[in-house]
Amino acid sequence: MIRSVNPYNNMLLKEFEELSEKEIEARIELAENTFDRWKETSFEERASFLRKLATVLAAKKDAYGKIMALEVGKPIKQAVAEIEKCAWVCNYYAENAKTILKPETVITDAYKSYVNYEPLGIVLAIMPWNYPFWQVFRFAAPAVMAGNVGLLKHASNVMMSAEHIEDSFRLAGFPEGVFQSLVIKSNKVDSIIKDKRVKAVTLTGSKPAGSAVASAAAKEIKKSVLELGGSNAFIVCNDANIDKAVETGINARYQNTGQSCIAAKRFLLHKDVAAVFLDKYLEKVKSLRSGDPLEEDTYIGTLAREDLAVELEKQVNDSVRQGAKVLIGGNRSGAYYQPTVLTRVTEDMPVFKEETFGPVAAVVIFENLEEAIRISNNSDFGLGVSIFSENTDHIEKYITRFNEGAVFVNELVKSDPRLPFGGIKISGFGRELGYYGIKEFTNIKTVVIN
Ligand code: NDP
Repeated sequence: MIRSVNPYNNMLLKEFEELSEKEIEARIELAENTFDRWKETSFEERASFLRKLATVLAAKKDAYGKIMALEVGKPIKQAVAEIEKCAWVCNYYAENAKTILKPETVITDAYKSYVNYEPLGIVLAIMPWNYPFWQVFRFAAPAVMAGNVGLLKHASNVMMSAEHIEDSFRLAGFPEGVFQSLVIKSNKVDSIIKDKRVKAVTLTGSKPAGSAVASAAAKEIKKSVLELGGSNAFIVCNDANIDKAVETGINARYQNTGQSCIAAKRFLLHKDVAAVFLDKYLEKVKSLRSGDPLEEDTYIGTLAREDLAVELEKQVNDSVRQGAKVLIGGNRSGAYYQPTVLTRVTEDMPVFKEETFGPVAAVVIFENLEEAIRISNNSDFGLGVSIFSENTDHIEKYITRFNEGAVFVNELVKSDPRLPFGGIKISGFGRELGYYGIKEFTNIKTVVIN
């Protein structure tokens, strides 16, 4: 059995029977048969389904938002906004996939030479629970527009979300088999990757999961894309607009109750502005409303599972034992963890070295930009960084010094259907979204005619 449990009150929401081997086989076979027809459809046909899907999402955003509020403790307002973003990604690829994937002529000495972008086939998507809808749509919208079909193995604690995502494709009228959810645990993934009909795999989640899945794909010489964790620095320079940095820094750390790979986790503050930044920041943290995820004005919900809150508590307590100081928060109750700010953080502490997947900000003070860059880069992760400074011309000269998949100046790191998204180092490889993301699951075919 796979269970969805409400982390806010521990109530069992729904139990799911795992698919049998026979049922898994039937779904892979359906996906394969559908692919044969789906790859022949025009961009216009695919786009009309995707636009319909966006309409379904918009119409059902409250209902879908509520599923996430119940299943992972996500505050309802943020959950509804997540569904709106899913509708956006569908509309964006419906509008733009044809242009992005149009054959590219390359002048050579041949009579004709060009590059075609053709679909690969069945792509397996292994997705996490932190943005149960968005993570899936971010994969699915470009993948199906490129002519692929998708199989989803969602995280075991969000099978209700998975069920409703599959249903949204049905309601939009997609041919059966373009997108299917597999109710399975992770021990079934290996054999699916081995299946000859499955051509590629994408995973968003932790390093151990990514490493296991990429290894299995590599054994079969199959393409994989990994979007793993991050420990983004949020750098506040001495010439920053402090009010803007405070406001953005609150969202960057605490939205989705801190459970985001691209959240700001390490706050690097210039010594001249650290005190004023922290005064204002703590005032804001105090005003964040924790509570029932279903209430409109709740900003901090629970973590998605109690074990995740226990892990976060351990990272904080171990760091405090090593000398970190709790300025606010620092307590857990069940799956709830208080919004927390820690100072006197050093680079050997868990809250600095590891990913803190919850509402904990770790503060480090720096003396100059060179030092900030060194501290920022002192991480195994390389997903993104935010830098606040009013002298953007000066900051732009340093962009290449950051070992990251993304650099955002005077803005929080966020995903956008129009821009590539992904990391380097142990944050993963490959890209989602943008011109690059949609091409990850295509056969980049060279054509030469003489
Ligand atoms: P996991 O990485 O274990 O889960 C993510 C997905 O991978 C789930 O669908 C999971 O399935 C699947 N999975 C896990 N192990 C394997 C495997 N060996 N083979 C195939 N699939 C696998 O995340 P956790 O839930 O354990 O969260 C732990 C930490 O991971 C978080 O605290 C955070 O640091 C990081 N994380 C990062 C995310 C991101 O956005 N980059 C998202 C979620 C977590 P199942 O649920 O059935 O185990």
